[in-house]
Amino acid sequence: MKYHIDTIPVWDAYHQESECPLCILEHNLEKNYVESFLGASVMESDTRIQVNRSGFCPHHFKLLYDAQNRLGLALMTHTHLKELIGKFERQSKAVLDAAEQKSSSIIDNIFGRNKDFSEALSEFEEWIITQHGQCLICDRISNTMNRYAYTTLYLWDTDSEFKKTFNSSRGFCLNHLALTIKIARETMSSKKQALWLADVIPLQIKFFHNLDHELSLFINKFDYRKKDKPLGSAKDSLPRTLQKLTGKYMD
Ligand SMILES: [Zn+2]
Ligand SMILES: [Zn+2]
Repeated sequence: MKYHIDTIPVWDAYHQESECPLCILEHNLEKNYVESFLGASVMESDTRIQVNRSGFCPHHFKLLYDAQNRLGLALMTHTHLKELIGKFERQSKAVLDAAEQKSSSIIDNIFGRNKDFSEALSEFEEWIITQHGQCLICDRISNTMNRYAYTTLYLWDTDSEFKKTFNSSRGFCLNHLALTIKIARETMSSKKQALWLADVIPLQIKFFHNLDHELSLFINKFDYRKKDKPLGSAKDSLPRTLQKLTGKYMD
């Protein structure tokens, strides 16, 4: 797999103090994609065709809905719905045909001339689940995040200034740690992968412990005997811990 290098956004994210710079990048991407899908890009015929085909996941439909461009979203949803109806009619016909054949012709079933009803129904179920899981925004975010993860590894490997910045960062959230491991496995030699892990794992462990400590300070603050103790950086330890665990930037 070949990825393009895109260093400026990665450097920008590393200049902000956070539990995971890739979370910041993903958060910005999501915001930009939601805006662009309700703006000019949705008028491009390529994008329109892709939206009609896949639609969006529940999370991204909700973000689009909350963005308050109801006409834009209604137009987009309408053409997607029309395409879905066509596909649904074709897919459901296959399962209804199989049901009918099952009840009418035992002989055909014995000779295997009919598609087995339960097989057809299970394919139909799978088709619905796949259809429901498709999302153009998720796809685009995932492609660009692969590129950002690759760029992070590339900078770590080739730019000593970045390596220093990286080594004073807090590692990644679990989600983006897995992503960088995936990209490292795809693009680096085993020797480099091992060097990468030797840098990243101690950071992860150090900042897990950091959050552990800050979260206890935060919890103690609810104890009236300790309520006057200053919280300092532990003030936002809950959203940062949630981000570290889930990859969801809680702004
Ligand atoms: Zn992250
Ligand atoms: Zn999505």
